[in-house]
Amino acid sequence: MPDSTDHPVDSSQHQSPTNSPPSYIGRFAPSPSGPLHMGSLVAALASYLDARSNHGKWLVRMEDLDPPRESKEAADQILDALDKTGLHWDDSVLYQSQRKDAYLEALEILSRQDLIFACDCTRQQIQESGGVYPGTCRLRHLPEESGKALRCRVTDEVISFTDQIQAFQSQHLQDDIGDFVVKRKDGLFAYQLAVVVDDDFQKVSHIVRGIDLMDSTARQIYLQQKLGFQQPCYAHIPVIVNQLGQKLSKQHKAKPIDPDDSVALLLEALRYLNQDPDPALNSSNNDDILKWGIAHWNPARLTDRQEISEFEAPL
Ligand code: GLU
Repeated sequence: MPDSTDHPVDSSQHQSPTNSPPSYIGRFAPSPSGPLHMGSLVAALASYLDARSNHGKWLVRMEDLDPPRESKEAADQILDALDKTGLHWDDSVLYQSQRKDAYLEALEILSRQDLIFACDCTRQQIQESGGVYPGTCRLRHLPEESGKALRCRVTDEVISFTDQIQAFQSQHLQDDIGDFVVKRKDGLFAYQLAVVVDDDFQKVSHIVRGIDLMDSTARQIYLQQKLGFQQPCYAHIPVIVNQLGQKLSKQHKAKPIDPDDSVALLLEALRYLNQDPDPALNSSNNDDILKWGIAHWNPARLTDRQEISEFEAPL
């Protein structure tokens, strides 16, 4: 079992050429709602290879914001699987469950800009009005109390960014999303707020993650702007889908990976990432596969691909 707080790695392998602090900081940020499956391993590997091939740091952040759905056991299993596959992270693992004060502070900064309001609309009411939050509670001045969500007011503007894999993206938050939840009605902080606060706290410069999160990016950029944070570079990799076109995820019962079979797993993950691993690697070890992966990493091989079918990368 890896030490889940501090993880010494051989940093000589990935120092920046000048030995100055790396200007590239990447991260893998799993939610511990179950053990690692192939879809999450592929995301971890892509962010790892992108960081290491840029002489950057690679951090792991445990997004354990939702205790009813998550467990310490799953978090430890994820760290153990990363460690066994040779995906060694830098620094200490950051646990979002320990970051509540930072999220509160961010909420306060947003409140001071009059961007936060309480809302008691139900999911069903929002669905009935077309799925985009229509601003119902904006001017109701409901008290901020349990049982009410806190939403962040969006403005009438287009947020755009150039994704390193999926090219130019833009979203009109007011028309496409509406004011979005930053604290849930059960009192838990929402992913959108926590991810932005922690990416800034950890000075993350490059975010490589699954395309299923691309729709969240405009909201995150909006929060970065309102909180005065730097905007990281984004690269969204295709998701693996099963025969029914469903994302390989815990929700759709994706099989946990067996970290003791890590050579086969890494090769399979590289094939999913369309990196065409050298057949000679079949009889090698983790470290050699990862070294090959770092030396040959070419995210352009994923350009404009949104999905990879589960059967495209057979062993
Ligand atoms: N915790 C999120 C997930 O497991 C990922 C967050 C992110 O990469 O921004 O889906």
